[in-house]
Amino acid sequence: MVKQRKTFRYRLYPTAKQIALLDWQLSEACRLYNAALQERRDAYRFAGRSLNYYDQANQLKEIRAVGDLELANFSCCQDVLRRLDKNFKAFFRRVKERKGKAGFPRFKSRSRYASITFPSYGDGCRLLDTGKLRLQGAGQVKLKLHRAVVDTIKTVTVKREAGKWFACFSVECEAAPLPESAETVGVDVGLTAFATLSSGTEVENPRHARKGQARLRRAQRKVARRKRGSASRKRAVRELQAAHAHLRNQRSDFHHKVSRRLVNDYGLIAVEALNVKGLAAGMLAKSVSDAGWSSFIDKLAYKAQSAGRVLMKVDPRGTTQRCVCGAPNPKTLGQRWHECTACGLSAGRDHASALEILRLGLSLLGPTWASRSCVPNEAVCFS
Ligand SMILES: [Zn+2]
Repeated sequence: MVKQRKTFRYRLYPTAKQIALLDWQLSEACRLYNAALQERRDAYRFAGRSLNYYDQANQLKEIRAVGDLELANFSCCQDVLRRLDKNFKAFFRRVKERKGKAGFPRFKSRSRYASITFPSYGDGCRLLDTGKLRLQGAGQVKLKLHRAVVDTIKTVTVKREAGKWFACFSVECEAAPLPESAETVGVDVGLTAFATLSSGTEVENPRHARKGQARLRRAQRKVARRKRGSASRKRAVRELQAAHAHLRNQRSDFHHKVSRRLVNDYGLIAVEALNVKGLAAGMLAKSVSDAGWSSFIDKLAYKAQSAGRVLMKVDPRGTTQRCVCGAPNPKTLGQRWHECTACGLSAGRDHASALEILRLGLSLLGPTWASRSCVPNEAVCFS
């Protein structure tokens, strides 16, 4: 059976004293991160040497022994160094691929360093029978267990977000296959509607997104007007963070609901392998990042995998310029209706693309889908 990693987020309610302790833990983690970054820079600049994770982790014991680091949990310290290592590896990869500016890893400010991870559950972090979460360095913190943790907890990340605290449990769980379904669907994610299905159904963009945007703009203006370093600016920043977090949560909730519906209803789902980066560079930037397509596709992918559905990612090129019958059907961006003289299909532009996306998805699978016998019991992605 396929194992999957999922993350569940729970709200923490630390006392004032615990907040101070947690803030201190974060600031110590931040200090360690920056010191390790400094060491790497110096080693490179003065000795032409690059340090790796082990070079740095091997010094941890000593640093802690002289009392120079108050991040309470040893594994947490290691995780900080691993994060830095990951950022360096990503940097070297960007240099190698020569993708734009490589962007050397930067020092982080204490206000931006907002999470620590306990990499192995039980080591410095444990859920108690009392329902509280014991965190080394902060004590027993009240937690709202809004849903039971049924799977094995692997790691725990404690996060500060817009003045609120959260514990994110990364758990390993079994896949939960749904009864087989022969239904198929093509999904065209678009700009007017959030998505259009090959059945012709449109999934509207949620209304609250607009409202949230307006609130966000107001909060941004407020921050811009306030004097740097003032207490009132700090309050405005907090408000802005809250607006961002709210919008993010609403969007994520919407994506979860839509992807769940699709996975429940269809055995095969075909979507476009969207090159979001390429799109986002152009005029559509705002609408694209707004709709958050890639995070939607991610949610769709893991739900499909867990349920034993087939998710096909097809080449998006030409899906709007072709009819499902194969006849070319060039359209400008403004042309919202699809008329085919070859087969007589008359449908909305996005509906026609959804049909073409489904056709492409099915053609990639070939006869395997029709016979159903060789379809693997997990998601297959061709991108
Ligand atoms: Zn046609």
